[in-house]
Amino acid sequence: MSIIMPHIDALTTYALGEQPPEGVQSVKLNQNESPYPPAPSVLQALRDMNEEELRRYPDAACSELRETLSAHLKVDKEQLFCGNGSSEIISLIFKVFIGPGGSIAVTDPTFGLYHTVAASFQAGCKAIPTRDDFTVDVDVLLASGAKAIVLVNPNAPTGLLLSSSEVERLVSGFAGLVVIDEAYIDFAEPGASSQPLLAKYTNLLILRTFSKAYALCGARVGYCMADRALITALEKGRDIYNVNSISRKLAIAAIRDEAYVKDTIVQTNRSREKFILSLRELGFEVLPSQTNFVLCAPPIKEGLDAKQMEKRLAAAHIFVRHFDQPRLRGMLRISIGTESDMKRLLAELVHILA
Ligand SMILES: *Cc1c(COP(=O)(O)O)cnc(C)c1O
Repeated sequence: MSIIMPHIDALTTYALGEQPPEGVQSVKLNQNESPYPPAPSVLQALRDMNEEELRRYPDAACSELRETLSAHLKVDKEQLFCGNGSSEIISLIFKVFIGPGGSIAVTDPTFGLYHTVAASFQAGCKAIPTRDDFTVDVDVLLASGAKAIVLVNPNAPTGLLLSSSEVERLVSGFAGLVVIDEAYIDFAEPGASSQPLLAKYTNLLILRTFSKAYALCGARVGYCMADRALITALEKGRDIYNVNSISRKLAIAAIRDEAYVKDTIVQTNRSREKFILSLRELGFEVLPSQTNFVLCAPPIKEGLDAKQMEKRLAAAHIFVRHFDQPRLRGMLRISIGTESDMKRLLAELVHILA
């Protein structure tokens, strides 16, 4: 008899973008990380950590971070839950709301972690195709028969945003849990967030992260907003000290320096729009994006498909992402880096296509 649970044994490790070798000046555009450092006040908070804060257990209720978020978001503290990255909250959603034998519906394509985590909890994950142009069809999602619906909005890896009215149609038309993963919402147009719907619907859970716009992937802090009853359930299911003392401080400092984050978002969106125009000039098809990445299809060229282009770029120490999935095979997902990152990438693309 095997020691390992069969459903765990059967899992394949979650596929990440290639990690560049150390000691080489590479351009890393394959994990949607921010190319800018966190706010100076965040780095200061890190330096200010004291002996006692490391020696003592942190406050189990995570009060200070929740209060800071509450004031910043204008959401009741009792409607906020913090996690070790939003990935931890994704796991907790399965533990607390779905369970073995339950299932969720996600769009195809979407963030791959939902499939992996579902399998690790012996739950199903139904991939509901988006339309040919990758837009989300709310009616097919509603008809999936799953216990919960997860919508990444704006979606990854497409970058497309579903309108608030369509999101409301989804939430109001479904009796079960609807999770809206807003990992990239900071880069989207004003009014894009589903947050206003929280006041009306008790089956809505909105996920956010400090990893993307706040440049804190390494700190691992995420949070969610939902009706109090859902938050209480998550509290019951979590580890006692799920967010460490250091990361809490960094997240609080990041929230307090809102102006800095706003600047980096404006810069990223400006670089994105410029980059999209340049790609189109090179013959790429590019989806409009409301995120810090773009999904694009390189011009058809004999002996040079998207996967080969990913390889050619990696050889030049530029890392972008190709997904070996039917809908995405001819495409690349490229994170928006600094202006100089994008210049270097464009120069290499011109070279490869010549
Ligand atoms: C990056 C990402 C996350 C995970 O974020 P962490 O907070 O770093 O765990 C969640 N959802 C989507 C769609 C993402 O792209």
